[in-house]
Amino acid sequence: MNVKMVDLRAQFKEVEEEVKKGWNQTFENMNLMLGPNVGAFEDEFSSFIGTKYGYGVNSGTDALILSLSALGIEPADGVLTVSFTFFATPESIILAGGKPIFVDIDEDTLTIDVNHLEKILKSARRKDGETYINGIRVKGIIPVHLFGIPAPMEKIRQIATEFNLFIIEDAAQAHGALYKGKRVGSFGNTSAFSFYMSKNLSALGDAGMILTNDKEIAEKIFRLRIHGQSERYTHRHIGYNSRLDELQAVVLRAKLKKLDEWNRRRREIATLYLQGLKDLPIKLPTAPKESVPVWHMFSVKTRKRDDLFKYLRENGIEAAIHYPVPCHKQKALEEFNSLSLPVTERVSGEILSLPIHQHLTNEEVSYIIDKIKDFFG
Ligand SMILES: *Cc1c(COP(=O)(O)O)cnc(C)c1O
Repeated sequence: MNVKMVDLRAQFKEVEEEVKKGWNQTFENMNLMLGPNVGAFEDEFSSFIGTKYGYGVNSGTDALILSLSALGIEPADGVLTVSFTFFATPESIILAGGKPIFVDIDEDTLTIDVNHLEKILKSARRKDGETYINGIRVKGIIPVHLFGIPAPMEKIRQIATEFNLFIIEDAAQAHGALYKGKRVGSFGNTSAFSFYMSKNLSALGDAGMILTNDKEIAEKIFRLRIHGQSERYTHRHIGYNSRLDELQAVVLRAKLKKLDEWNRRRREIATLYLQGLKDLPIKLPTAPKESVPVWHMFSVKTRKRDDLFKYLRENGIEAAIHYPVPCHKQKALEEFNSLSLPVTERVSGEILSLPIHQHLTNEEVSYIIDKIKDFFG
């Protein structure tokens, strides 16, 4: 058997007809610059998540950068986030001119450890209503809904209010996940989504979106994505060139209609894994009780990670390691290399992602479970 991490071909087959029809219309009207499908997808996706405004941009990384700019980050301002995430999260903070301040993660959910977050902020210096950590003025928090599991937004909002911080949700891996009955991406001052190929909702190339309920922020984002323009050739800020592509919007509109169904199938597979693997000496992923995850990844933890990874590969199963080196240990972030985040570091050495996607069959899932059982003998 050969089991893949994602089946892009099967995904496309499901929407092929609708996509080709939409593309043919675009090839006729050539309305390529923020055209009708971009506008329609912005409306459809923001109402799907539950926010007033949505702006399509080039990528999830740009969604983070433009959010930070719109929220007024100034050079050397600090933004609290996790190191156990895709590199784009801290990278966007630096590209926007700020400085990441890393917080450890919760061992079970793998999202930001709110106790550690609170501890850092409570021991920080406060002056004139602002908070300083090692001389850095802290402006915001970027929680990451990693692997499709919601971060504890209620507590994060309470902390953000107490310390006067903005929240940007990194929802790049959590399209459709619920926290206390509301979709993630609707809790922060803004949220950033990615539609990169491997995400739960994906384009056929790079694409992203920023969501917000704040009219003023929305207007600023609207300008930022076109070189800070308020009107044509009138530039109010230094902005970016970051727009969602009309052809990608056609794909995303068609796939959005399937997303709930696709996420439901992911949850079904997660249940099979949780049942099938429960008696083995591996740690299974957990989501907070008040949440409905969308299982972007299904990650198990074991000290025998490297051997299990090799064994699965030898048996035709495409497992993957997300992420083998935490952000604060990367060469690119040398100034953070000596920082100690014990949970993040331990998890990086034990984590392994098993295939989970909507086109996986029950037979394939059983095969994977059996192989893992064989491994532990
Ligand atoms: C994918 C991803 C991003 C970046 O999105 P791109 O569209 O690839 O730029 C940011 N954060 C997280 C957690 C991601 O998984």
